[in-house]
Amino acid sequence: MNEIILLKLGELVLKGLNRRSFEDKLQANIYRRLNRFGRFRVYTRQSTTYVEPMDGSCDMDGAWQALTKVFGIVGLSRARACGKDKDAILAAARDYLDGKLSAARTFKVETKRADKSFPMTSIQLSQYVGGELDELYPNLQVDVHHPELTVHVEIRDYAAFVHADPEPGAGGLPVGINGRAVSLLSGGIDSPVASYLIARRGVALEMVHFFSYPYTSPEAKEKVLQLARLLTPYCGGLTVHVVPFTAIQEQLRRACPPELFTLIMRRFMMRIAQQVALRTGAGALVTGECLGQVASQTMQAMAVTGQATQLPILRPVVGMDKEDIVQLARKIGTFETSILPYEDCCTVFTPRHPRLRPTLEEIQQAEQVLDIEGMVRAAVEGIERVHISP
Ligand code: ATP
Ligand code: MG
Repeated sequence: MNEIILLKLGELVLKGLNRRSFEDKLQANIYRRLNRFGRFRVYTRQSTTYVEPMDGSCDMDGAWQALTKVFGIVGLSRARACGKDKDAILAAARDYLDGKLSAARTFKVETKRADKSFPMTSIQLSQYVGGELDELYPNLQVDVHHPELTVHVEIRDYAAFVHADPEPGAGGLPVGINGRAVSLLSGGIDSPVASYLIARRGVALEMVHFFSYPYTSPEAKEKVLQLARLLTPYCGGLTVHVVPFTAIQEQLRRACPPELFTLIMRRFMMRIAQQVALRTGAGALVTGECLGQVASQTMQAMAVTGQATQLPILRPVVGMDKEDIVQLARKIGTFETSILPYEDCCTVFTPRHPRLRPTLEEIQQAEQVLDIEGMVRAAVEGIERVHISP
């Protein structure tokens, strides 16, 4: 083993959650994500997690990429292992960090000693390695207060490690530490971003997609499954519950005033999603709704929609500008898929003049002719479950 990955954990001062369960959950998630890159040993000491390959066949680049997307990690560095000897450490620093040492103008060396039998103190070793590097690299000056580059040296029981400052990780909390929610995933830009934001707060997700075949095409469904797939590096493996929605939409079109169609339809989405939540142990629904973006996203519309479920509806993008949502979608890699031109079920029967300020009374009045329970039951019974692993 000559290289390992060090992880800095985030939000360890957690109120109400304990640090141990945070670390355990994170460790389990890391093991699961690293599975396909080889066999690793993962352990945590003093809020640093060490990821060590067990043999030479491990894919370290793949592991690194995967770890940059694991929630709960705020920083990552790759470290070179070397012998516990001052000159071996210096040689490792030169060899491993040469690119960074040649590019920086100011630097310092910081040493941590877990092995107290090492013959030099931390300060002595930092001064030795720093002094030598200062001579070897004419571009470098020591600056102990605001260095561009910090060379970290760690003396552990079985080896020494050299690494530079960590790169930013995905942040947030380990997925699963804050329970489970059902996310309503359309093929649009907003709902994948909403799912990402809630997963980042440590929530495991079940996805629900309402599918209106033949009004929407198999490609539209494939697009949604692809979006779910793109989210798994962050969220972990998940299930997409594909709900047959055509019968309900046709019934609503026959029986309801056109200007209320969208809202009544959205209330069915909430009822069905709530049934999925009950079956999967989820405690909330997640949507990509954004205040004022479309007629069904006014405050009044959201009130009427929310009243159809007892569960809280989490709307993490509710206050974001579209540009900001798009920027996040690009960052997490869902944007290009989201803009593929396949119709969503919401656009299929969209009325020309939807009601902007609906009242609950008129909606409930219009729903009286419907066998709500039966319609929900039939849709839930027809659900197709697609499991997606990272
Ligand atoms: P998005 O970009 O996420 O599609 P949108 O701006 O198009 O959102 P709407 O179509 O009104 O807005 O949908 C609002 C939210 O309702 C979506 O973000 C999503 O959470 C949910 N939703 C809409 N259509 C579907 C669908 N076919 N399946 C599952 N959820 C849906
Ligand atoms: Mg949409």
